[in-house]
Amino acid sequence: MSQAADGSRDLTLTGVTKEYADFTAVKSLDLTVPQGEFFALLGPSGCGKTTTLRMVAGLDTPTTGSITLGDLDITYAKPYQRPVNTVFQNYALFPHLTIFENVAFGLRRKGVKNVAQPVEAMLELVELTSQARKKPTQLSGGQQQRVALARALINQPEVLLLDEPLGALDLKLRRAMQTELKRIQSEVGLTFVHVTHDQEEAMGMADTIAVMNAGVIEQMGSPVELYDNPRTAFVANFLGRSSLMAATVKEVTSEYVKANMHGTVVSIPIERAHVREGSAWVGIRPEKVLIAAAGTPIDAPGNHIEGGIVTDVNYVGVSTEYLVRMPWGQEIGAFAQNTGHQDILPVGSQVDLSWRPEFAFLLDSDEDPNAG
Ligand code: ATP
Repeated sequence: MSQAADGSRDLTLTGVTKEYADFTAVKSLDLTVPQGEFFALLGPSGCGKTTTLRMVAGLDTPTTGSITLGDLDITYAKPYQRPVNTVFQNYALFPHLTIFENVAFGLRRKGVKNVAQPVEAMLELVELTSQARKKPTQLSGGQQQRVALARALINQPEVLLLDEPLGALDLKLRRAMQTELKRIQSEVGLTFVHVTHDQEEAMGMADTIAVMNAGVIEQMGSPVELYDNPRTAFVANFLGRSSLMAATVKEVTSEYVKANMHGTVVSIPIERAHVREGSAWVGIRPEKVLIAAAGTPIDAPGNHIEGGIVTDVNYVGVSTEYLVRMPWGQEIGAFAQNTGHQDILPVGSQVDLSWRPEFAFLLDSDEDPNAG
């Protein structure tokens, strides 16, 4: 198989569009997954994640655009002609075959004679050596998922596609399998493209996340980049929680954009200000907002809002989640970490709020803030 000039086998989608009769599921998608990366396609139901994955697998063909692996064009290659394997949510194991034979299946089909050694190595990788003689129904959901993974990996694909592979597992098992998947991916060093609508799953596992919405990628970056510096209200709300507050841009300096929220002026670092004029949303994550009883001196530099009233208190052990109504009526979340003995501020308390300017972001307010 041919190699790109630099030898890399990056997966690249260029201008990929998928149209059904009267519906465009994926719109002019451009993305590159570097070789060996754990990449997540994250988005709500119907945003086009599975359609994108199916085109990479060869189960669907793009209406326009191209898909390449290194310098190999696989846009129209048959599924079995491309070095890509898929693990589906429903595992699709053969119920009448043992675990060993399920894993051996791909090799036997290729006519490989001596399957014992590679199958045993795969079973060891997914920690199922002791289950080799059992049938799939005798295993737990998490174990069946690992069999599906071993069965795909034994074919030595260059890219492994995972379509909501943990979707059928309960929450605790899903979190355990995330750690397991990440370990396996770093051991085998293959490119993983993981489709999920679970933001915690994507954040916990992926090197890079592409957030999809209505057939387009809204933003792509590391989990930290997306969380700290969302570029759209959709991304701000889909990954974690955020308060978006109506404001008007007042001044742009070389370092900050200053925005006016009903007379209170707040600063947003220039690299996080995605609008430079007119109306906008000031966004802030609730755990970045400090809350204190009214009049408590605040020594940290930052943006201050006085005259808030606590409207809701939710004690969740590790933190206390407050909802605070600001003087102009809009509400903002403020999560206080319960690191010591905490005095909980009851509903109706008068409070002051503050946050460091570097934590805020400024977004286009033409977008629906509740999207996502
Ligand atoms: P989910 O998480 O629910 O699987 P998804 O993000 O994977 O969602 P897709 O399965 O890619 O979404 O579907 C994207 C859109 O394309 C949906 O609105 C879906 O109804 C539509 N769609 C998918 N397949 C077809 C098809 N064969 N014909 C017409 N429309 C389709």
